Amino acid sequence: MTNKDLANLIFPNINKTVDDYEKMYPLRDKDKEKTVTRFAPSPTGYVHIGGIYQTIIDYLIAHNNNGVFFLRIEDTDQKREVKEAIDLIKSALNYYDLKPTEYELDGEVVGNYGPYVQSKRKEIYHAFIKHLIEIGRAYPCFCTKENLDELRDMQEKKKQRTGYYGRYAKCRVLSIEEQISKIKAGETYAIRFKSNGDFEQKFEFNDLVKGRLELSENDEDFVIMKSDNLLPTYHFAHVVDDHLMRTTHVIRGEEWLSSAPKHVELFNSFGFKLPYYIHTPLIIKKEGNSIRKISKRKDPEASMNYYNELGYPKEAVIESLMTIINSNYEEWHTENPDKTFLDFEYNPSKMSSSGALYDLEKLNNISKEIISKFTAKELFERSYEWSKEYSDSLKKLIEYNKEYYINILDIERNQEKPRKDIAYYKMIEEFIWYMYDEKFELNSVEYEWKNITDKNEINNILNTYISEFYNEADDKDTWFNKVKELCDKLGYASNIKEYKQNPEKYKGNISDVSTVIRVAITSKSNTPDLYQIIKLFGKERTIKRINLIK
Ligand code: GLU
Repeated sequence: MTNKDLANLIFPNINKTVDDYEKMYPLRDKDKEKTVTRFAPSPTGYVHIGGIYQTIIDYLIAHNNNGVFFLRIEDTDQKREVKEAIDLIKSALNYYDLKPTEYELDGEVVGNYGPYVQSKRKEIYHAFIKHLIEIGRAYPCFCTKENLDELRDMQEKKKQRTGYYGRYAKCRVLSIEEQISKIKAGETYAIRFKSNGDFEQKFEFNDLVKGRLELSENDEDFVIMKSDNLLPTYHFAHVVDDHLMRTTHVIRGEEWLSSAPKHVELFNSFGFKLPYYIHTPLIIKKEGNSIRKISKRKDPEASMNYYNELGYPKEAVIESLMTIINSNYEEWHTENPDKTFLDFEYNPSKMSSSGALYDLEKLNNISKEIISKFTAKELFERSYEWSKEYSDSLKKLIEYNKEYYINILDIERNQEKPRKDIAYYKMIEEFIWYMYDEKFELNSVEYEWKNITDKNEINNILNTYISEFYNEADDKDTWFNKVKELCDKLGYASNIKEYKQNPEKYKGNISDVSTVIRVAITSKSNTPDLYQIIKLFGKERTIKRINLIK
């Protein structure tokens, strides 16, 4: 009996060979290697911020080099699979304009290197595993979960490295006859790789971000095909897929670095060329004085849903991630304000190798800056789209009168220094609700009176303002001059400097008086330009608001 007999017993219906697949998926460019990157998410129910962070790098490397960026769905762990997950991945890539060149989504396949979904590649994996069995580099393992747990316990007790290697790899030494008779007797088995490595030996591993590393060789006979669903493990699928799909750059989280020796040995066992690797540093955050990994369990911002739900413009999220992707990005963007991240040349040596510190405060600042540059119409369109999915109450406000909503957004916008107070669309309502009578009258409004709180004095100021100084037709300068005249008349300083020199001469100053008008009309002590608000209200509504105070 030979390895070939064993291979045929395990895979009787697999007729294609590794060579056949080599021919089916040739190099993409005959003369020179085409740059190929990929995003390879597991559909587990949400898109992690680290996935988008890596995808931006994938996208940039492909884009910078006129290459290909494809999407591969890694669904071999079907226990963890969640139905809507693929939709979430698809909509995140669409939303952030990181569309793959090749993919398989909703039954539509684009590209000649598919299937792009691992569960549909079973036959391919089996051909490659069959080959390894034939050349004596893979074997069936009949150990049960209990056997393996016992092994681990024993190793832990003896303070040894855990794993299935060397003399602990019990099934490695079974004869072909034994293997065949166990299979024929119906015992379940997984397939393991047969390692030739020596853990004591080091080899050089080159990571484009982390540099040249000395790693220990792999010596584990790790599982390459699982016993229950006959699908490959990540390690095996990575090697077969990235080879056949002609990936040149593998960008993945640094949690995979420790498995790299396994992958290198597998690549070598097939005689395949190794891709370039970028193991991206963990995304970390500050918490008090310490720094820790952003975690799905503790931090809502780990999921891309967080940014959708609050309504950050996509540019803000991309910009914030770009700042942790390359340390020279911010400077570059300041020098090239009209360019987008797609014009930026990604450079792995400008990437932190130890941890990427993500800061929501910084995201908010970036986002405020970006939103402040939108025209009112643009902000209307974006926030309206957002509200349709995430906020019924904003949607209602907008639909009540779109023109009016745009005018509100336009206050202090079209000017050299626009207001920078909105970081995401969910904040908008909180800034504008008082512009709507229905909200204002229904809410039990809390007036934020400041220095002047005496009801009589407040009424005195408001009555005098309305009866003697308010005129709907006034332009801004006239309006402001009249507020000054109001101050002079009622004993308030219309000039702050003068007030500071002789405060005892006055009841207060112009800022106190305009605060009274502002609070009466809006209930807020801090609002955008009061003149523009009053203008937008018009006479009837301005007077109505003031009458509410009395
Ligand atoms: N499916 C793996 C993950 O989600 C992909 C790792 C890789 O990019 O190779 O972590």
